[in-house]
Amino acid sequence: MTVTLNREFPPIFDGHEDFITQVRMRTPGFPPKPPRDFLTESNDGQVDLPRARRGGLGGCFTSIYLTDERAEMNAVGYAMREMDDVFTLADRSAGQFRVCRTVAEVRDAFVAGAFASVFMFEGADPISWSLKELRVFYEAGLRCLAPAWSRSTIFAHGVSFGDALPETGLTLSGRRLVAECNRLGIILDASHINPAGFWDLIAESRYPIIASHSCVKAISPHVRNLDDDQIRAIAEKGGTIGINFANIFLRPDMKRDASTPVDLIAQHFDHILNLVGDEHVSFGTDFDGTDVPDAIRDATGLPLVCRALKERGYAESSLERICNGNFLRVAEDVWK
Ligand SMILES: [Zn+2]
Repeated sequence: MTVTLNREFPPIFDGHEDFITQVRMRTPGFPPKPPRDFLTESNDGQVDLPRARRGGLGGCFTSIYLTDERAEMNAVGYAMREMDDVFTLADRSAGQFRVCRTVAEVRDAFVAGAFASVFMFEGADPISWSLKELRVFYEAGLRCLAPAWSRSTIFAHGVSFGDALPETGLTLSGRRLVAECNRLGIILDASHINPAGFWDLIAESRYPIIASHSCVKAISPHVRNLDDDQIRAIAEKGGTIGINFANIFLRPDMKRDASTPVDLIAQHFDHILNLVGDEHVSFGTDFDGTDVPDAIRDATGLPLVCRALKERGYAESSLERICNGNFLRVAEDVWK
């Protein structure tokens, strides 16, 4: 039986999911796991089309993520292979998985109950100094770009997960990248960038920026999370922050402990809502890119978060903004 989109809440547009990377690059170790097909329901990983529909997940920024080795060896080649995997998936889906380039296409997919996928690069590694690749990737559907993942690019430096990285902000090329993203209509993503780069993005971008998958530093002091000044700055620029479901970013003790309660996820939403209002917080689960609370488990757990927010007294209009309205408003402001 075909699973239809759960309409208990407005369709969720998720700021960050890594499922396409998982198709080929599985968890290391033996025995190797077989390839996973996004169109077929699985108990493995965190998201596929049937589970997305059960969870009311209408679409996402589909992240093109590269390991350090791939970014260094052949970033353009690996990025194109992942994008081709997404197009192939769309081709096989009979209209149930759609590569969207406009807000109207995303909304049409929601109405049809089809999955709305929008390309994002988690790091500008495939873009060279001349920026020549950027226009081509834009034409292929790239609509969101993080100047750096947690490593350095020629444009910016990420917050480090290990070896020390420069603490300086955008390079001169990084400033040109921002201007070109503004011109083409590509949303800039501040998740993973270091603080100096963050403030340069705020200063340089003429349009709203987002943090596609970050949490609240006042609750969990992880380097990947945003402090209150950063949250206010994203809000003042008209942007939004996708709450990441990674245990280490949610928990005050930053432990890789999956006993994290749903209530703690709701607290991150609360903090941003109380600080800057309901127009600047969204979902940014990081499904298939991290370990999430056992209470959520996978995309089918999303309604638990919506119900927790509703029980806290969130209005229907707030839930609509959080589920998809805020990301789509930013998209309307930035995309051409
Ligand atoms: Zn990430």
